[in-house]
Amino acid sequence: MVEYDVIVAGAGVSGATAAAMAGKLGKKVLLIDRNSEMEPGKKTVWGWVCGDAVAKSHITYVQKNLGNTFSSEALGLAVDGVVALSPDLGYKLPFDGEGYSLERPLFGKALFDEAIKNGAEFKGKFSVEGPIIEDNKVRGVFGKNEKGEEEKIRGKVTIDALGIASLLRRKLPENPYIDKEIDYEDLELTGRFIYKTEDSFDDPKYYDKKNALIHLNQQMAPGGYGWVFPKTEGRVNVGLGVQHKSLELRNKKFGANDNLKSLIEKYVKWNPLFKNYKLDNTSRNGEGYWSVSVRRQMEGMVYPGYIGVGDSMASANPLSAGGIGPALIGGILAGRAASKAVESGDTSLEGLWDYNLDYVKQYGKSMAGMEVFRIFLQSMNNQDIDYGMKSFITYEEAVEITYGRIPELSLTKKVSKLVRGVGALRTFKDLVWTTQKMKELNAIYADYPRSPKEFPEFKKKVVSIINEAKSRMPSSPV
Ligand SMILES: Cc1cc2nc3c(=O)[nH]c(=O)nc-3n(C[C@H](O)[C@H](O)[C@H](O)COP(=O)(O)OP(=O)(O)OC[C@H]3O[C@@H](n4cnc5c(N)ncnc54)[C@H](O)[C@@H]3O)c2cc1C
Repeated sequence: MVEYDVIVAGAGVSGATAAAMAGKLGKKVLLIDRNSEMEPGKKTVWGWVCGDAVAKSHITYVQKNLGNTFSSEALGLAVDGVVALSPDLGYKLPFDGEGYSLERPLFGKALFDEAIKNGAEFKGKFSVEGPIIEDNKVRGVFGKNEKGEEEKIRGKVTIDALGIASLLRRKLPENPYIDKEIDYEDLELTGRFIYKTEDSFDDPKYYDKKNALIHLNQQMAPGGYGWVFPKTEGRVNVGLGVQHKSLELRNKKFGANDNLKSLIEKYVKWNPLFKNYKLDNTSRNGEGYWSVSVRRQMEGMVYPGYIGVGDSMASANPLSAGGIGPALIGGILAGRAASKAVESGDTSLEGLWDYNLDYVKQYGKSMAGMEVFRIFLQSMNNQDIDYGMKSFITYEEAVEITYGRIPELSLTKKVSKLVRGVGALRTFKDLVWTTQKMKELNAIYADYPRSPKEFPEFKKKVVSIINEAKSRMPSSPV
């Protein structure tokens, strides 16, 4: 039976990137997906469900490491940044810097083509059902091929890039490194449409041709946000994410029966941009629903013979839910780590461990802190968010937070502004507590365990702070 050096399960953003990297490093790579080669990166029957926004720096990182270039068609519209608006639309804060509003099917195809160009073999229409485990080590994958026959494929290292519902992650043997399930409270249920709208519309509170807009509003999008991201040719990517628990609380309070679909419909009706619009269903990618995780990435992302990457490891940014950047960065690092392990002949936990350190250093170090900030945001109602955005955080401090750095809140100056009652005082105290915990978590991650031996102590500290945040600041959208 053939044994590959590296099996990459999942040909989405993270998998195609990992396969391209391992291929570039001369490894015998098999890239697997349930889609055919005509539709690489399609997440589900609903298409390439995504907001399509990615930071320019993440694209540059890939190009630097793979030596490729992306066509302007695949990159789509260049934007100045992502801007979050307060519920009353009176205040704006930056979320992220320059970036692109991608054409996701073309972008996925470009990464896929790069993997094939670098020598990866592709096996399409193959449904992965789980890992082959022998002697507590992953030795490949099993699943059903195009003809519906059960098939086993063996590899020295298996990279799990199957996305959020990964059957590889969920079928790993019990282990302390990787959680099998993602807590429901840490998921955003999301839906999005691509619409063609009137290009002449001009009101940057609702639509901005130069920026991706995020609308924070705990009644319209409980525990999440709505978004309107500009695209080329007068199209927009509009969508909404909610936390299930916040939606329940909000429905209960108002005696409402809204679900994700009805909330998106209301959001579109609310936005005056959508007076005349029609669905752009190119590549059958116009309407879709899926989930994104908003927790820190898995504390550990390797197991003997196994590396996890992208959404399978919950790597999306907990604050913005942006997962393309971490999937791209993770893909480069996973492809490299797998290749190194194959070369050294050490695919054990210890042999793969440096991938954790590399990922934490390159991207993951501030994500646990960001998760605490997300929990803080979900604990506030619209009035608290309006007041907090206006009074407690300056533009510069917001920039610091979205880059995972912790601003020194100029406390005395801020406290003097606290004139508006109990809610504001609670919010302020929680903000101070939150920034303190972000600092602690960043320090814990700066000292990420050098070997699996020190891992349990590290994980204990991280989980304890996250649990403390959840119990101190429960979801409370209304
Ligand atoms: C509505 C929505 C909006 C979003 N907006 C943004 C945004 O604006 N910016 C951003 O950065 N991120 C956004 N994200 C997150 C981003 O889309 C993901 O983080 C990113 O796609 C992760 O890439 P991935 O390759 O890890 O996983 P995926 O893109 O999910 O790819 C997984 C691949 O594995 C394949 N696969 C899955 N299971 C099997 C199986 N059993 N057998 C064979 N193949 C399988 C799938 O077909 C797919 O090709 C959004 C997510 C959603 C849901």
